[in-house]
This record gives sequence, structure tokens and C-alpha cells, in this order.
Amino acid sequence: MKTMVKYTQLQRVQVDLRAGRITCRELVEHYLQRIEATRELNAYVEVYAAEARARADALDAQWAERPDSLGRLWGMVISHKDVICYAGHGVSAAAKILEGFESLYSATAVERLLAEDVIIIGRVNCDQFGMGSSNENSVYGPVRNAADPERVPGGSSGGSAVAVQADTCLVSLGTDTGGSVRQPAAFCGLVGMKPTYGRISRYGLLAYASSFDQIGMLAHSVEDVALLLEIMAGPDEMDATTSQRSVPAYSEQLAHRGPARIAYLEPAIAHPSLDPQIAARTRSLIAALREDGHQLDAVDFPYLDHIIPAYYVLTTAEASSNLARFDGIRYGYRHPEAQDLLETYQKSRTEGFSDEVKRRILLGTFVLSSGYYDAYYTKAQQVRRLIQERTAAILAEYDFILMPVSPSTAWKMGEKSDDPVAMYLADIYTVQANMAGIPAVALPLDVHDNGMPFGVQLLAQRFAEAELLAFAAHLKGTYV
Ligand code: GLN
Repeated sequence: MKTMVKYTQLQRVQVDLRAGRITCRELVEHYLQRIEATRELNAYVEVYAAEARARADALDAQWAERPDSLGRLWGMVISHKDVICYAGHGVSAAAKILEGFESLYSATAVERLLAEDVIIIGRVNCDQFGMGSSNENSVYGPVRNAADPERVPGGSSGGSAVAVQADTCLVSLGTDTGGSVRQPAAFCGLVGMKPTYGRISRYGLLAYASSFDQIGMLAHSVEDVALLLEIMAGPDEMDATTSQRSVPAYSEQLAHRGPARIAYLEPAIAHPSLDPQIAARTRSLIAALREDGHQLDAVDFPYLDHIIPAYYVLTTAEASSNLARFDGIRYGYRHPEAQDLLETYQKSRTEGFSDEVKRRILLGTFVLSSGYYDAYYTKAQQVRRLIQERTAAILAEYDFILMPVSPSTAWKMGEKSDDPVAMYLADIYTVQANMAGIPAVALPLDVHDNGMPFGVQLLAQRFAEAELLAFAAHLKGTYV
């Protein structure tokens, strides 16, 4: 087999396909071979080898016969997080409770990609039900960071990040409830985007916290992120929370639009939990942008330390309700020795969920229980509103908010496993976008002295993805 360059953008794949330098089949063989060579990273839960080969052959035949009929994602090889449904394929949220369960239908996002001729190569590992920041909470075992296999890839879309980082596919679908696309992207040196809440249909996405969840994507390039968003976004009658707004041609609007007004949250960059090298590099980026004529202002944000507690009250509350359907009766795993209904519930759920998922179901049930509801759930809703309003006020004056993605680089495996609160605090910079429902992009910024990549994040107003992606493309081409 000929050795293949590492593609980092679909457009280059398509140039080579058109020139006859490669075929879809060769591309798929390359990625399958990479998957085998990187097995110890544990990114894949299931590889659709035969199917991907067949689809590649069909596309190669189509190219020979009717080249004009090929879709816009011709040559794109993609993987999907194990919480996104693909009809006829397993989906388990990395949990025993969904053992052996097969999707009856595909997520709308997946349907739309398939209609543009994407090749789906496999289903990738994640934290169970999207709950986690390190991808160590999976029934399939932890995922390892390809830059240093002793370190975590981030989570919960850790398999998606490593699949792209390790060149086993061009791009991957993840989900972002509180940072699960952006933080692994930063830990693995990739671009990751969470769109505005309601931009991409959640139909066919296993729900974690429904008022926060969004499908997002991990890629090497802003261009591929823009194209994927353009194809997946838009109204869907199967998800009433999708916006009716028309979808701009994001991928054709990436040209730089001149000086931007950018706010940075001083308390975020001055925060004691932030690694000094990441803080210094973020400040040097701010200085460089200012020098080039962009307006950069420090703004106040008094809620930073309230974000995490409020987020974990609200998301666990929603999760306790969403996960009630996994009862040992309807889907997947049922305990073989349970004698009656109650025991079936108890034993199936006790064995079917990980400790972290059970912790969250318990916490969520507690904050919703009568007597505590107002003290926790109502209070957290009020904090969410304050965060939304302050964020909207900043974005009424500025085009973007600039922030680190994570307070540290990827940590060593096991380092935070015994301390759930330490793990939760690592989400301090990513959760704001989900609390406010706004779009955010993580870009690779630099490499730390410890050898690990870290990122920078841009947030924009609701539905300002076109502006956000154009600026992200400029930033990536010019500064990072
Ligand atoms: N780490 C966060 C959590 O565990 C975010 C997860 C996510 O975005 N799915 O809730």
C-alpha cells in the first residue's frame, strides 16, 4: 500500500481524489491501518471496516461514472461518539446498561452527513453518558492521549479527539454539554466547536442534560468545522428546540472581516487555578491581537466561581430525569437474576451505570426533591439567568469573548479519578458557553513545556457562527 500524507482538510483530500492520486478505498485502507496501529489508545468502540470499504468502493465507482453526482463530503472519513445514533449500529453511551442495544434510526445530523457522501468508519469511546472530563469513565476502559499515552485525552468526547489526533479519520462528531468537544480538542491540539443551542438537531443524540447538549465537531481545520456545521445545522421537525433560522454558507464566509472587538474576562485569566504558562501565552496572544488593531478590553465577570456549582446542579437534575428511562426493561442490559420488577430496576441500574453516573443521578434526584428544590435547583436556575444576562451584555458590546479552554494541559491518567470535584473544576472555562447557549470554538494555541498542547477559546453571540468561524480561521492562520 502506498504511504499516505496526513490530511488535515477535506479540500486537500478532494484535490487528490480529483487528480487520481488517491481513491476513497485507499483512504479508507489507510485509516483502517491507522486504527489498528493505534489500538492501545482505545479510541474506537467499534470499527465499521467492511461497510466503510464497501461505501468507498461505491463512491469510487460513482466518481468514474457520474462525477457530478458526488456529495459535498466526498472523501470525508468520519467517526461518531458513542452517544450519537446511526441506524443498524450499536450505541451504548459507553455504559453497560445499553449493552447490545442497536439504534433504530439515525440522528438527523448523521442523516445529513450521509446524504453528502461522508464515509463513517466507526463509533468512538467517550465518558459514560457524556459525564466526565477525562474519558476515564467508560465501560470500555480509558482513552489515551496520542501525544502522551500516560495522559488523558480530555472528555467526554475523548475518543473523538484521539481518533482525529491519531490520524484514524479526518474529523469526528462529539457532543458538548459543558465543554466535552472543546476541552478534548485543546488537550489533543485540535479545533473543536460547540454551536449555538438549537443550531443542530439533537434528534438521535442520547440525552445527558437536554437544555445544554449540542452536537459538535472536532477537526484539524476551521474549514472542515464550518462545512460540517453548514451541513448538519438547521430546522428539524423531530427536535422542537432546533432554530427555524436559515443556515448561512459558513464555509464560504471564512474571509477575515477586519478588526474585531474582543472582551477577555480578567478574572478568568487571573484565576489561581490557571497554569502560569497558559496564562502568559493567552496574555501574549491578547497583546499581539491588540498590536494588530483589534480592540481588546478586560471586562469583569463576577460569576466565574459560581459557574461550576450551578452547572452541576442543573445538569445532574436533568440527567436524573433523562436517565430514568434506562430501567433494565426497555433497553439493553437486564440483570439475569432479578426476581421481580423492583429488583430488576435495582440490580440492572446498579450494575448498568458507572459510579460517576450513579453519583450524578443521586445528586440530581436530591436537588429536585421537595424541600431542597428551591435551595438548589431554583437557585441554580437563577444563577444561570445571571450568567446568561451578563454574557449577553458583554456580547452586545463585543464581537467575541476570548478565554482559555482549560486551566491546565491534559493531566496524567488517574490523577483526578478519586476527586470528582477537582475533575468538575477543570470545566471552569468551558461551561459558560453552555450555560448561555452560545457558540464557542476552541483552537490550538501552543505547546506547553510538558509537551502537551493547549488551546484558546472564542465565544460569540447566539447564532453568530459565521462571524465566529471567520475570526477563528483568521486567528488560526495568523497567530496560532
Ligand atoms: N465535563 C463536563 C461534565 O462532566 C462536560 C461534559 C460534556 O460536555 N458532555 O458534565
